[in-house]
Amino acid sequence: MTEADWETATDPNAMLQFLKGRTGDRKIRLIACGVARCVWDAMPADSSRRAVEVAEQFADRLATQEELHGAYRAAWDEAWDISWGEDASVPYAAAAAAEEFSVRAAENAVKSLGPQPIHCEVIRDIMGMQFTPRELKPAWRSAEVIALAQRIYEERRFPDMPRLGDALQQAGCQDATVLNHCRCSGLHARGCWVLDQVLQLGHGNEVVSEQQWLTCDKPFKLLDWLDYLQGKPPDRKIRLFNCSCVRRAWPMLTDERSRRALEVAERFCDGDADESELATAEAAARDFFLPVGEVLGRTAGNDPNHRRLVLQWKPGLVAATLAGGMFGMNNAAFHMRELMDEDLATGGNESAIQAAIFRDLIGNPFRSELLDPRWLTPTVLGLARTAYSEPVALDPRNPGYLTLDPSLLLILADALEEAGCDWPELLRHCRSGQPHWRGCWVVDCLLGIG
Ligand SMILES: [Zn+2]
Ligand SMILES: [Zn+2]
Repeated sequence: MTEADWETATDPNAMLQFLKGRTGDRKIRLIACGVARCVWDAMPADSSRRAVEVAEQFADRLATQEELHGAYRAAWDEAWDISWGEDASVPYAAAAAAEEFSVRAAENAVKSLGPQPIHCEVIRDIMGMQFTPRELKPAWRSAEVIALAQRIYEERRFPDMPRLGDALQQAGCQDATVLNHCRCSGLHARGCWVLDQVLQLGHGNEVVSEQQWLTCDKPFKLLDWLDYLQGKPPDRKIRLFNCSCVRRAWPMLTDERSRRALEVAERFCDGDADESELATAEAAARDFFLPVGEVLGRTAGNDPNHRRLVLQWKPGLVAATLAGGMFGMNNAAFHMRELMDEDLATGGNESAIQAAIFRDLIGNPFRSELLDPRWLTPTVLGLARTAYSEPVALDPRNPGYLTLDPSLLLILADALEEAGCDWPELLRHCRSGQPHWRGCWVVDCLLGIG
């Protein structure tokens, strides 16, 4: 995007794309709010407006994560109710402003309303001159200028912007761009670049930090962040992720057809099974869980058989889903979380384990480097192939739960180092002592599959 493109852009999505890596979570959040504010008067009820207001406070660290989430839920529920009878794009845009991930908040606010040129005006007002940035001199920030800017910011008195221009000029400002911006008839939003500079409000934090990535225990959040940082992962990784999540419950796959569905789904990931084999496996797995589900549907919750049936039905359903081609994160992995945490009451940490699996498959997007082909000695390749094709069961109580042999990865790290490998993240990962799963990013990277 050139300066002229930026100044004349009419597609807010292109502008948001351009801003990747160029700004922080505060500015992005305020863009989401500014977009939602474009339809303020059309907002149907208090919870919509409240979502936008809380999101604005959150941007300035004046509301907590919990308050943001509560406002989002209330607005979203309202939008959902409305959507049954009429167009709910406005309440959905308001809810979007309070979505947890700031980037998604901005994208979804625009998406809910449909991209419009006025959204570009909001973005330009908040981001200012991207190609010839302006700096306000300290002398221009007189007490009068600051007090006026504060009032405009806090009370949304944007019609007073020309007065701010006058006050700035009185304080010595001769920058025509700054003065024109204050005096122009165009739109100003909370986060306006001139106001922000007067009030010394910054861009905010990184939209996602390495620390957040490494400590997050929600796989769906990781997926969202990854999409922002480097794009969606390949289908194969998503499938392998889901397969590993289901493998954890191998002893609960009591029927041979369910186990077969999982195995075929795994082979499909590497092209060793085709669509028709997958479909056959899915149909067979359905033949198992559907009749169980029918009985379950007629069984009361307090029936002693109810729980036993749930524990048969749900894993069967999940295994069939895997082979059914519905590989989204919210399917197999989601059902597994429910199964483990709610039905088995395993302590509620299944989500954290799934997040660890996801990170193992994807690697650390903050530490990407290029693989040097000189490291791919026959020893390295042999070890990587064995690790991938001969997974082991580390837990004798769960012989169907297969992971890569961690001792092979330790040897692999030595072999890589001997071959001259100096990629710290890669060596550290092999030696981490953490479990590795099929699709582990190091092994995939060495074998050239991704
Ligand atoms: Zn402005
Ligand atoms: Zn690994």
